[in-house]
Amino acid sequence: MAKHTIVLIPGDGIGPEVSNAARRVLDSAGLSVDWVVLPAGASALDQGFENVLPQKTLEAIQHHKVALKGPVTTPVGKGFKSVNVQLRQKLNLYAAIRPVRNLPGIKTRFENVDMVIVRENTEGLYSGIENEIVPGVVTSLKVASQAACTRISRYAFRYATRRHRQKITVFHKANIMKLSDGLFLDCARKIHDEEYPNIEYDELIIDAGCMKLVQDPSRFDVLLMENLYGDLVSDLCAGLVGGLGVVPGSNIGDDCAIFEAVHGTAPDIAGKGIANPLAIIMSSVMMLNHIHEETLAAKIKHAYDAVLTDGDPKTLTKDLGGGAGTEQFTNALIAKLK
Ligand code: NAD
Repeated sequence: MAKHTIVLIPGDGIGPEVSNAARRVLDSAGLSVDWVVLPAGASALDQGFENVLPQKTLEAIQHHKVALKGPVTTPVGKGFKSVNVQLRQKLNLYAAIRPVRNLPGIKTRFENVDMVIVRENTEGLYSGIENEIVPGVVTSLKVASQAACTRISRYAFRYATRRHRQKITVFHKANIMKLSDGLFLDCARKIHDEEYPNIEYDELIIDAGCMKLVQDPSRFDVLLMENLYGDLVSDLCAGLVGGLGVVPGSNIGDDCAIFEAVHGTAPDIAGKGIANPLAIIMSSVMMLNHIHEETLAAKIKHAYDAVLTDGDPKTLTKDLGGGAGTEQFTNALIAKLK
């Protein structure tokens, strides 16, 4: 097995707890890896770096191409620009891929949920261009470029083709944002018509789309949308399959990729040793597939499926109805690796 070098960013809040669990699982599964552990977020400031996104961390990802990342804090309404937004923009990680599916043993309201959210990751309202026009009046600029809308659309159709997915649904609000969301739709339609007519394609105004999602998510396959919608819909969909503890994600660019859970730093449970590490472990499995370690990926997936199928409350974390902590769940998973 080739030796890999992977940047590990523990992050803030529950980040160090869950990323340490993921690292233990990957090491126990036999991944041959040099971990380059570097900070980002509030913890970078705590460690004496001047910036929440140290140049050293950014350069390590650029150099080694792959990172596994815990969540990082972003202050609300003031303070520094989101580390996540900076990483995605600076490294051009234009596609966020978030698979949302029912897991064995986790009982939820719906069955047969198996969808993938493809979120444009670099522009929209996340451009960070905000102005106070006059006191009491502010604007936030929603940016849409033909290049970025085309790029994410092509990525989604290519992904659907490679993964044998049947259908792409675009969520939009082009009835109101006729130019920006209108451009997104034009680009998606063009890629469908000219390059992937074999994949089924449809569009839904996002408010109706959300209603249909909570009525019956099993009808959806691949969901494609711009940045903010993708953020909101990801959490909504997480709620349909067991919560934020079970939804993984990746941020993919042409040069590098960062793998991370959808969830944040969970300050309400940070430091208590009770966070569910499964989402970042599932993100690690996505990472293993990305670096062509498919056998190891399958091994870890079988192990967590087995723990979930057993459904023993002594090994499941609280968010999944059990009484175990992060470490107990991780130990149970490691015991199932074979
Ligand atoms: P959150 O995802 O941190 O938490 C929402 C709820 O889900 C909380 O009740 C939390 O306890 C629960 N939860 C989340 N992950 C869990 C896990 N692994 N196991 C068990 N329960 C879990 O969202 P928030 O509270 O809105 O955000 C907190 C901070 O995280 C903010 O600073 C936000 O900006 C940041 N954030 C970071 C990322 C990232 O770095 N990728 C993503 C989202 C939010």
